[in-house]
Amino acid sequence: MHLPPFFRGPEDWLLSSRTRPTPAIVLLLTCLLLWCCRALAADHPAGMPTVTLTPQLERVILNSHTHHLIDESGEASLAQIQRASASRWLQNPKGTINFGQSAFPYWFRTHVTGLDQLQHTTYLRVDYAHLDELDIFLVRDGNIVEQHHTGDTTPFSSRPIPYRTYLVPLSADRGASLDIYVRIATEGPIQAPLDILTRAELDRQDKLNYLWFGAYFGIMIIMLFYNGLIFVFVRDLSYFLYLLYIGATAFLQFTLHGFSFQFLWPESTSLNNSMILVLTGLMPFTAIAFVWRFIGLTQLGTRLEKSALQLLFAGFSVVLVGAFTMHYMTVLKLAHTLSFLAVSLGFYLGLKYWIKGVKAARIFALAWFVYLVFILLYLLDIKGIIQPNVISLHALEIGSALELVLLSLAFADRLNTEKELRLQAQLKLNQDLDLLVRERTEELEQANLKLKEVSITDGLTDLYNRRHFDEVFGAEYQRAFREKQPVGILMIDMDHFKQINDTYGHPFGDLCLQRAAEVIRDAIRRPPDLAARYGGEEFVVLLPNTDTNGAACVAETIRRNLEATVVSDGNHSIHLTASVGAGAEIPPARQDLEKLLKRVDHCLYQAKHGGRNQVVAAAPNGPAALSA
Ligand code: GH3
Ligand code: MG
Ligand code: MG
Repeated sequence: MHLPPFFRGPEDWLLSSRTRPTPAIVLLLTCLLLWCCRALAADHPAGMPTVTLTPQLERVILNSHTHHLIDESGEASLAQIQRASASRWLQNPKGTINFGQSAFPYWFRTHVTGLDQLQHTTYLRVDYAHLDELDIFLVRDGNIVEQHHTGDTTPFSSRPIPYRTYLVPLSADRGASLDIYVRIATEGPIQAPLDILTRAELDRQDKLNYLWFGAYFGIMIIMLFYNGLIFVFVRDLSYFLYLLYIGATAFLQFTLHGFSFQFLWPESTSLNNSMILVLTGLMPFTAIAFVWRFIGLTQLGTRLEKSALQLLFAGFSVVLVGAFTMHYMTVLKLAHTLSFLAVSLGFYLGLKYWIKGVKAARIFALAWFVYLVFILLYLLDIKGIIQPNVISLHALEIGSALELVLLSLAFADRLNTEKELRLQAQLKLNQDLDLLVRERTEELEQANLKLKEVSITDGLTDLYNRRHFDEVFGAEYQRAFREKQPVGILMIDMDHFKQINDTYGHPFGDLCLQRAAEVIRDAIRRPPDLAARYGGEEFVVLLPNTDTNGAACVAETIRRNLEATVVSDGNHSIHLTASVGAGAEIPPARQDLEKLLKRVDHCLYQAKHGGRNQVVAAAPNGPAALSA
């Protein structure tokens, strides 16, 4: 095996030496002998940090009492590491052990004394769940007394104690003191919070931790359930994306804390790694999809923003596929880079659209900001910049729970806003509908009026038609009967109209009828008077509250005006004449209206026979000519 130069100790040199001893060599050998005796007198290698355990100590944090060495060969054995020169071992003045990602295994060592004083079960703990390979060696006087090969590339059962991170029991049986060697080879960050603690201290910490986890995962389950129900009822895609986001966040935390490996897939080491990648990718993926939908950026977003989003989606798709097909470290780096970009984009979008006045963006930006603050707190903690405290230790859980609760409130607010908008829209719709109904009713009324007008109007002359006259006359006659008032009737028949038609044509005849109708209409001035076309070239006029003299008077006016009227179509001009029968009576009985009509018709007949162009009025005892 090829060994890097630093593994060649003084003993190698001795074994390979074939030179004859010289005084100088004898002197050197003497020195070496003395050095070896000293080394053997001490029970651990020189320069190794020592931790002394006492029965009173509940917990010792080893981080700054540990030296580390980077194995650049990647395959050095414990024996080789033990032989490594002391100068290769580096101190760790920081209060934490976090060296980021490394292609080489890291070795840590520390010397522990006072084990024989321990009165309670005591553990060595490596409190980080995601180490690919973790080897722990307990060494006494240079010999291995106990060794464990575990990590998440070996089944969960490889752990000395079934626990979500790594515990190795330390007992007095192993002697008063031990050298502890820990080897970590992992594609994730070299993170190894090392401590020695009693069972009681572990239980105390776990009680508190499980309280936190219980609260956190409880909140997550409630949020999932609550928002799941809302999604079932509302069927809004935003809720589905939000559910995915909560699910991915909670599941990622569950897995990062080592629970998934312990409880869900203890035998499946490859699934454990893949799921971390999938969830690391899925969380920001769903977050950014959710914010996009929540703020409504499909309508509002600029082309650049849409392109950035598409790029992120493409990147996350690669992560999701790569989780099962590509190199872990590459995918993890890609997922972290994309997550960073997604978080930045999400924050930028939230702020931008908040400033632009989009209400949904305001709460989103606030929620996102809260989460970012807690992520920062978490990073400051694991980088050792701030002293770890209960908040910073659980910053990710607190941040994400707060964020999700805030977003839930944002959703509730949105539901409220939408409800108000719906109500307003409903109100507006009702008002519009009301207006429309009123408009339509008015139009209908107008149309009805028009229809009625058309149905009672004569198309050629615009006077009323006979049907309308019959109706009104019937009513007027009844009223006149009740009130004992006279009612007058005129019947007007154009003279020699057949001849006019025959001589000048039917259209000219129509023109004459229209002109005659105008003359008749102009002659009746009192509002209740009514003129109608009775049929052909015959007209009828109803004159309520008019006696025979009054009727005869109106008849004469009409006759005279007709006589004076010249009808001309540009080619021909003629004078019109008409014969008029007039009559009036105070109705003697309700049904006698036909008799009045007959009497007036008889007068008209007499006017024709009397030579036409004259009025004959019906005297109470029979018709009598009034004018000629
Ligand atoms: P008299 O003086 O005896 O009433 O003679 P007359 O020709 O008017 O009598 P008659 O009742 O025989 O003829 C009525 C004519 O009126 C017949 C018809 O051609 C004409 N006439 C009826 N209705 C219309 C119409 O709507 N338009 C036109 N142009 N002529 C009509
Ligand atoms: Mg006639
Ligand atoms: Mg006629």
